[in-house]
Formats: sequence, C-alpha cells, structure tokens
Amino acid sequence: MNDRAPGAGAAELVAALVRPEIRALSAYAVAKADGMVKLDAMENPYPLPKAAKSRLEAALAQVPINRYPDGGGDALRAALRRAFAIPDEFGLILGNGSDELIQIITATLAGPDAVMLAPEPSFVMYRMNALHSGMRYVGVSLKPDFGLDRAAMLAAIEREHPALVYLAYPNNPTGNLFAARDVEAILRAAPGLVVVDEAYYAFAEATFLSRLSEFANLLVLRTMSKVGMAGLRLGYAVAAPEWIAEFNKMRQPYNVNALTQAAVAALIADRSWIAGQASAIRAERTRLGAALARLHGATVYASATNFITLRLDDATRVFEGLRARRILVKNLHGWHPLTANCLRITVGTPTENDQLLAACAELCP
Ligand SMILES: *Cc1c(COP(=O)(O)O)cnc(C)c1O
Repeated sequence: MNDRAPGAGAAELVAALVRPEIRALSAYAVAKADGMVKLDAMENPYPLPKAAKSRLEAALAQVPINRYPDGGGDALRAALRRAFAIPDEFGLILGNGSDELIQIITATLAGPDAVMLAPEPSFVMYRMNALHSGMRYVGVSLKPDFGLDRAAMLAAIEREHPALVYLAYPNNPTGNLFAARDVEAILRAAPGLVVVDEAYYAFAEATFLSRLSEFANLLVLRTMSKVGMAGLRLGYAVAAPEWIAEFNKMRQPYNVNALTQAAVAALIADRSWIAGQASAIRAERTRLGAALARLHGATVYASATNFITLRLDDATRVFEGLRARRILVKNLHGWHPLTANCLRITVGTPTENDQLLAACAELCP
C-alpha cells in the first residue's frame, strides 16, 4: 500500500515502451446511438422472424457453457459449407467477426519487408491492421467514380510486390462493386495473397467463391454481420487448404465462442429469412436512392450493398442536422479526398427511411 495516485508514473512508462505508431492512433470510435435512428453501421434493421428466434432459443439452451467451445468449430463449418455451397476441397476458417480474420491474415503475412496494398478509400481496418502488425501499407486511390484504377493498381503491384492485397467486393464506404475483370487482372498480377472481402455479398449477388480453383492466391472473406447477426460476431474465410492451415496457427484456440457457434448454426438451418430480409433491404435501397437523388445538390452513387453513399453541397451541415433530429448516419467528409462532402447512409426499415427522407427534405430543400 502507498499514497500514490492510481496510475502515477504510467504515462512515462507508456511513452517509453509503447510503439510510437500505436501512441499516435486513436481507438476506433463507435458512435453513441442511444435512442437514435441508427443508420450508420450497416446493420440489418429487421428483428429475427419468429421461427428463427425459436430455433435460436432452443439451440442456445442446449449449449454446455461450462465446457470450452469446439475449437475448430467443426459443426458450424459443416453447416456453412452446406448453406453457402463451399466445396470440401477448400479450407474454411472461422473468426470472431471478419475483423478477426483480417487481423489473423495480416499478422501471418506481415514481416520486415512485407507490403499490404489496398485501394482507397476502402475498409479502414485493412490499414489499421497493417499498422498493428508492422506491415508497410500502400494505398492506391480509386478513380473519381469510385471504380478501381486498374493501371495504377497493376503499376503498384509491380513496384511494391505486395504480400497481401485487400479488395472489398463491393467496396465500403463507396458501395460500388468493382468490375470483375479488374479483380481478375489483380489476381493474375499479384505475387501474394489477394483477399476478396465479400462482407456485402447478400446485397451484391456477385462472388469470387466459385473462382477459387482458378487462383491459388485467392481468399474469399465473408461475415454474418451485415445480414442480421452483427451481435454474434462471426466471419469466415475460404481459400486453398495450405493457406488455411497457416492461419489456423495464428488463431486463438477458442476464438469463436460456443453460443455464437450454436446460434449461427441454428439460424442458417433455414436461410429463407436471410434471403427475404436482404431482398427487402435491396428494394428499400432502390426507393431510398431514388428519393435521395431528388434532394437539392445530391449525387447518389450506385450501391451493391445495404448502404447508400451520396455527395451533397455540405455533408457536415446535413450530418449535424440529422443528428439534431436523432438520426445517425456516417459522415465521410474528411476521410479521403474522394469522399469530400459524402455521407454513408445504411438502408433502414421503410419507417426509418421515411424519417430520414423527411429530415433530409427539411435540410436540403
Ligand atoms: C463490416 C465489414 C467488415 C467487418 O465485419 P465483421 O464481421 O463485423 O467484423 C469487413 N469488411 C468490410 C468491407 C466491412 O464493411
């Protein structure tokens, strides 16, 4: 026991010991959304249908939580293979969200000279994980219409020899699906692993999963988060078994908890509710996009996701005006020059979308 203030001297220790690039970071800020219409995080806005909820409750009641989970998640992996037609000849690894898989893949390929390459703007966790793992990150700007700059990507691949390339397909935060031909060109040119991140697969209906046998350097990454299971934290990656064997060495032995494994297996036993909700979201996306395009000064970009990215005269003013009306969206202004004055709006329920549109009509008459 002593009389020192708690933590006294810690600041000096931190300054001496923590890597400067980590001290310079700010932690990923999750916006407080209590009581707000939440259209900022690409969540599915619909509750579970009754039948799915009953299956979930029955499955969770059976889980022996005094025991460690199945470390490899064998039952859930078998269920995912059946549900998403993942062929047995490819390896499959589960993650605590696809965020964890991005961390595992990046840490596995990081090294003193290893480079990560990704288009910009794209999912911020790619670059963050490069920094965490001490991997050199190279960003290649998209074209002003948010398409891949194929020539610039190929030139960067030739110059940097990246061990790892991340392509979000479709892309977040821009919402567009890159041209498959450009992705193929990158797969052919890249000397390292190319992760095709299909977080929005359910809304794009385009995939590289069926192309795995063509490319030894292709990994397809998926998540259950955007289709109604964000709270469960489950992602999966599919690639040649040789890749998955290495990633399994980097994985914590019990990275996906027993409740999540049982819940996802029960929820995908019948996937009609997922398809139904995804199709309702796509229909609302069309309606919302058309209505937003009529706002004064708005440019709405084509979306293959469950969100809409649009440019306005003054995005920050509209963002603040929406927040004052208890509606939370994402302000992309200041993220990257290409998203100046852009907002990213997650597609909500019809009622939520009407609330958003009414507020926007007041703010952008
Ligand atoms: C949301 C998102 C993820 C992360 O998903 P989790 O499984 O919830 O960690 C990964 N990639 C992209 C492109 C995303 O938009």
